[in-house]
Amino acid sequence: LKAEWATLVDAPTETKDGQTFELAANIGTPKDVEGVIANGAEGVGLYRTEFLYMDSTDFPTEDEQFESYKAVLEAMEGKPVVVRTMDIGGDKELPYLALPEEMNPFLGYRAIRISLEQTDMFKTQLRALLRASVHGLLRIMFPMIATIQEFRDAKAIYEEVKAELIAEGVEVADNIEVGIMVEIPAAAVLADQFAKEVDFFSIGTNDLIQYSMAADRMNERVSYLYQPYNPSILRLIKHVIDAAHKEGKWAGMCGEMAGDQTAVPLLVGMGLDEFSMSASSVLKTRSLMRRLDTADMQTLADKALNEATTAEEVVALVDEALSKI
Ligand code: PEP
Ligand code: MG
Repeated sequence: LKAEWATLVDAPTETKDGQTFELAANIGTPKDVEGVIANGAEGVGLYRTEFLYMDSTDFPTEDEQFESYKAVLEAMEGKPVVVRTMDIGGDKELPYLALPEEMNPFLGYRAIRISLEQTDMFKTQLRALLRASVHGLLRIMFPMIATIQEFRDAKAIYEEVKAELIAEGVEVADNIEVGIMVEIPAAAVLADQFAKEVDFFSIGTNDLIQYSMAADRMNERVSYLYQPYNPSILRLIKHVIDAAHKEGKWAGMCGEMAGDQTAVPLLVGMGLDEFSMSASSVLKTRSLMRRLDTADMQTLADKALNEATTAEEVVALVDEALSKI
């Protein structure tokens, strides 16, 4: 099997019937790009920029950030790079940013909530990103968006920073897509309205599952409730994908589920456009996709969405479908 994977590094990501999908990888630092390229990913679907902040003893400067973003964009040679603005808070602490002690950090002051309040920090990051945008194909996304107002506010700051740079005579790419992570159920439910304003969605299942099931993703005690294949989660995902497509936008996924071999057949059937995962899962996912027939996966997804009542039933449906390929 491993030998087969090695032959797929430069192969297109397509199903047996010739449908193509974008297979991307997640990174935390510029040096991770090596693995992305070695495994033949077609882009970076999630660059978790918080590591820039976490690996530092003080706020990274605009120039420091610019160098990191430029390095990733250049190394990817024109392939898309989705950079997520910093997602500090929750489980990710920052020693030099005195965050208040909270009863429920995962439901507290984090990610875009910090960026929209500490706008200097946010603007510095956006300036660095926009300056780097001419070195490759940049896409920007905001984490932990719950309301349309948050997206509008973040986008307005982005536009302000862009106008400032242009006024300074700095060159900025004119093809930058701006999207959101869909990882809060409220945003998933309202996806049809978000889709009119964003350029793309990237579904963050790691958080979407924990918030939908009210089960902390790090608490062993309730891990039995952390169910990626629960039909409720699948329906939310399907709703997000359909909402994007209705407005001519694309929908990706950058949570662990995107590289999960049981989930991939379902996601292919649901029409997910982009799959972003750890680099080590890219080749086995490409190999799996090449054995799938889209029409069969649509039938499978329909059953999982409309007939299955439990996660176990969904897994049984997938196992049955995979046993025939
Ligand atoms: C997610 O929530 O699915 C995600 C990709 O973000 P993170 O794991 O960094 O919270
Ligand atoms: Mg998340």
